[in-house]
Amino acid sequence: MTKNYDIAVIGAGIAGSSVAAVLAEHASVLLIEKEQQPGYHSTGRSAAMYIPSYGPPFIQALTKASGEFFKDPPSNFCNTSLLSPRAEMLIARTDQLAAIDLFMQAHASNSNVKKIDADEIQSHCPLLKRGYAAAGILDTSGSDIDVNALHQGYLKKFKQHNGTLILNSHVNSLKAETGGWIINTGSENYTAGILVNAAGAWADEIGLMASAENIGLQPMRRTALTINAPARLDLSSMPLVADIDEAFYIKPEAQYLLLSPANVDPMPPCDVQPDEMDIAVCIDEVERAFDIEVRTIVRSWAGLRSFVSDKEPVAGFSAQADNFFWLAAQGGYGIQSCPALSRYAASLILGNSLPHDLIKFGLNTDSLGVGRLL
Ligand SMILES: Cc1cc2nc3c(=O)[nH]c(=O)nc-3n(C[C@H](O)[C@H](O)[C@H](O)COP(=O)(O)OP(=O)(O)OC[C@H]3O[C@@H](n4cnc5c(N)ncnc54)[C@H](O)[C@@H]3O)c2cc1C
Repeated sequence: MTKNYDIAVIGAGIAGSSVAAVLAEHASVLLIEKEQQPGYHSTGRSAAMYIPSYGPPFIQALTKASGEFFKDPPSNFCNTSLLSPRAEMLIARTDQLAAIDLFMQAHASNSNVKKIDADEIQSHCPLLKRGYAAAGILDTSGSDIDVNALHQGYLKKFKQHNGTLILNSHVNSLKAETGGWIINTGSENYTAGILVNAAGAWADEIGLMASAENIGLQPMRRTALTINAPARLDLSSMPLVADIDEAFYIKPEAQYLLLSPANVDPMPPCDVQPDEMDIAVCIDEVERAFDIEVRTIVRSWAGLRSFVSDKEPVAGFSAQADNFFWLAAQGGYGIQSCPALSRYAASLILGNSLPHDLIKFGLNTDSLGVGRLL
């Protein structure tokens, strides 16, 4: 027998789980995931950073608007802190100094961001080779995010509000019917009044099934690896250190160092794997900048960061397919922005006005819509 819901959300990564949790307070919601576990794709493969000065303007607004939730989540959401302070330090060689000035101009009003000299850089990261960096930027508002606690918190909230999560269920086809959708997962059919497309790198494929517009989503592979940290290094206060032109970054991750070549390689949506060449490039960059000799790789992985042309997320109803809502293109910022983005999306889906705090951060109902992409 076909099961009926007010809203069906496709994809149980951080985007789908967070919006489903907010929606479930007001409607019957089905959350559909093709994998055995939620978070198997991009959500489980991130660098877990919260950096309010990172990303395009609406992402920065959503990230700042998410700060309150991260710092003070609802009492039964999780039993651990979602954030642990971790500054971000951008470094520049002498040939990159112009980029430091550009960054400072763009963040002139941000009191958490300051320009620092070579000595101060060295004091924050003694691992850096002396003479490598000529100047830098320190952003003290950054943090590590406990992504698993965040994701599980949303899934717990979803279940507490009687949401239905189905795993191992690949959406194969979608059919519009009067007032909603028939969703086929091979073995089952479901119906829902509104369909939310939170399918990450696969969002344009879901759009195609629904005869919605193509938003030009491009998944980009990013590789990461962990190595043993040099002995006697105090990791607790070390910032994330990134090249000002985003050629690499390095950050403590438990007792290890996480390294990434910060690559942006276009890929089709898939279970992406790390590329040997990316790893070799990463090790070369890092060994040139830091007093580190990489002997053993503890773990390596890759994930997809999916973007549309302006690098901002897409959250809005389709202009072409009725009752079809896009929640996609969170790029490299989908974790740090999700508390605010999920509330933004849920307001539009439910036909409510936007929460005042989001309006104060400069968002309106069209800010993230598909209209800008057509
Ligand atoms: C190396 C790396 C570092 C990153 N670092 C950061 C960071 O420090 N901070 C930050 O904020 N962000 C970071 N990101 C970005 C962040 O991980 C993503 O923006 C975010 O995880 C996107 O979440 P999502 O739910 O949209 O996608 P996903 O987690 O990929 O979820 C989409 C889900 O949809 C499911 N799905 C797809 N098609 C179907 C179908 N037909 N039927 C059923 N289910 C389907 C998939 O199985 C998947 O589980 C990083 C990403 C990478 C790769």
